[in-house]
Amino acid sequence: MSKPPIRVTVWGEYRHEKKNPKVAALYPGGMHETIAAFLRKQKKLQVQTATLDEPDHGLSQETLKNTDVLVWWGHMAHGEVRQEIVEHAFSRVQEGMGLIALHSAHYSKLFKRLMGTTCSLKWRESTDKERLWNLRPGHPITQGIGDYFEIPMEEMYGEPFGIPEPEELIFISWFTGGEVFRSGATWYRGNGKIFYFRPGHETYPTYHLPLVQKVITNAVFWAHTPTSVLDSCPNVPPLETLPEDPEKNTRPQEGFR
Ligand code: ZN
Repeated sequence: MSKPPIRVTVWGEYRHEKKNPKVAALYPGGMHETIAAFLRKQKKLQVQTATLDEPDHGLSQETLKNTDVLVWWGHMAHGEVRQEIVEHAFSRVQEGMGLIALHSAHYSKLFKRLMGTTCSLKWRESTDKERLWNLRPGHPITQGIGDYFEIPMEEMYGEPFGIPEPEELIFISWFTGGEVFRSGATWYRGNGKIFYFRPGHETYPTYHLPLVQKVITNAVFWAHTPTSVLDSCPNVPPLETLPEDPEKNTRPQEGFR
């Protein structure tokens, strides 16, 4: 029997594309559709999209329950994402839903909630080239990537990046302007796996680049956890018979332990 497909939801804010003709020209159906399109080439993935202006931002409890990996791109409207939806997605990550946070998603409510830190960084929208160094050639996310790869023009993100210490540092970027940045990193939160991947400023054709697509595709497979663990905090009986508690009758009935 073949395994069921990995259910992926690609979430896009989908605002820059409607307001900026340059972005619309690069991503006619929205950045989320470009990302979904290359993921759909993988037979083992079942891919849907969701956007901010849909009811519940396209992320109803039902949709989140049926999402194994969530891919997130947002920027200008982070503040419009309802906290209730953020909390549902946060809980789903604890249960085992994977999260791929792309580029400006470093400041999304969901990523910040999961990291618990500022997630701040330096930035510059200019003509920098970005060179991403592969720090983990044996990692599932870097398969097919090689020693390093370059993006001819990208927005610069620089350190210090206000993230908790990554579980695994996957990429470090160098920019023409001289800065460096931890541009690929992983964390576990509960049963869920998180990958932050830096490239993807909306005015550059970054998500059309084959190696960028390769990293995101690899990351989706890596972030999939086959088993969900529902949150509970049960009071449990012992597995074996316990010895009598000698202090049983002398302990105070109430108060501090
Ligand atoms: Zn940007």
